[in-house]
Amino acid sequence: MSVPLLDLKAHHEPLHKEIMAAVERTFQSQAFILGSEVGKLEERIAAYCQTKYGIGVTSGTDAILIALMALGIGPGDEVITTPYSFFATAGVIVRLGAKPVFVDIDPTTYNIDPEKIGQVVTTKTKAIIPVHLYGQCADMGPIMEVAKQHKLSIIEDAAQAIGSEYRDGRRACSMGTIGCLSFFPSKNLGCLGDGGMAVTSDPELAERMQILRVHGSKPKYYHKLIGGNFRLDTIQAAVLNVKLDYLDRWTRRRQENAIRYAGLFERSGPVRKGMVRLPVPVYRESGTSHYHIYNQFVLRVGRRDALVAYLKQHDIGAEIYYPVPFHLQECFGYLGYREGDFPESERAAKETIALPIYPELTIEQQTEVVEAVIAFYR
Ligand SMILES: *Cc1c(COP(=O)(O)O)cnc(C)c1O
Repeated sequence: MSVPLLDLKAHHEPLHKEIMAAVERTFQSQAFILGSEVGKLEERIAAYCQTKYGIGVTSGTDAILIALMALGIGPGDEVITTPYSFFATAGVIVRLGAKPVFVDIDPTTYNIDPEKIGQVVTTKTKAIIPVHLYGQCADMGPIMEVAKQHKLSIIEDAAQAIGSEYRDGRRACSMGTIGCLSFFPSKNLGCLGDGGMAVTSDPELAERMQILRVHGSKPKYYHKLIGGNFRLDTIQAAVLNVKLDYLDRWTRRRQENAIRYAGLFERSGPVRKGMVRLPVPVYRESGTSHYHIYNQFVLRVGRRDALVAYLKQHDIGAEIYYPVPFHLQECFGYLGYREGDFPESERAAKETIALPIYPELTIEQQTEVVEAVIAFYR
């Protein structure tokens, strides 16, 4: 039996009729650009994230881009972020002419290490972009402290962490200045293509982002700012309005799968020998139900590349998120970083592997994945 990393067909099949009805309604309305479904989704997602305003945009990447634009970040500015994330997190900083400044990760959570942020703050620093990687919030308490101390904005990259809760129950996107979400199909709440949203509780920033989303015009054809076309399609919003009702159920399934993985791996040879280490959900004991939403289930393992090849050979989906940290990417060579600058990110890039964790994963499939991993180390 093959086990994919993600099974979108199994995910969407039960909702086929409901989704198609929403698409049909949008088709009938012909309001393809910023139709009522967009506003409805913005309100619902903002509330879900414990924020006041949502601005539906073209992608998660554009959500971070528009957030930086709304904060006026550009040439001469520095933005602190992690070197271990999806490319978009750093790419958008450079696209605006600003300079990304990297800070190594905490090896347990793979999120930015707040202890190290203060050391790289300069007079040019304008913002911090913590990423809630794999679905678990970065350690926002101390990050917010540093930001407050140096008057920095915080943009939460919550592309992998919609609804994820920090230790005090505050949700991803509600702690920073602006939060950014992605509706890419592999995220916990995905649409049928690209989509994203920026959320905030600051009315001025919300308005700026609304204006930036339509080329910076308000009213139409009168341009206050230079924006772009960053609009979320009405059809995608309609689909997301259907899917949002199921999100908590899917999150629970992902958490159940994670717990089941832990049980299946427990006392197995590779775990005892230290060849496999399970993810550590650090807020599990805090009493929040969304302590980790497991967009990815990531192990730290020995002989990683051989394991990936072995699993592929046995038709088991596995992926490396991410093989090259930002500071070692060719396009960022001009920043002058070298190998060894961020040892934890470099080690994570060499030692981690993501296993299937999607909500529809069956017990049989999970057992097969675990047996294959155990067989590899035997
Ligand atoms: C997916 C992702 C993005 C980008 O979202 P897109 O919708 O693909 O543009 C940004 N940051 C992180 C951490 C992501 O996982």
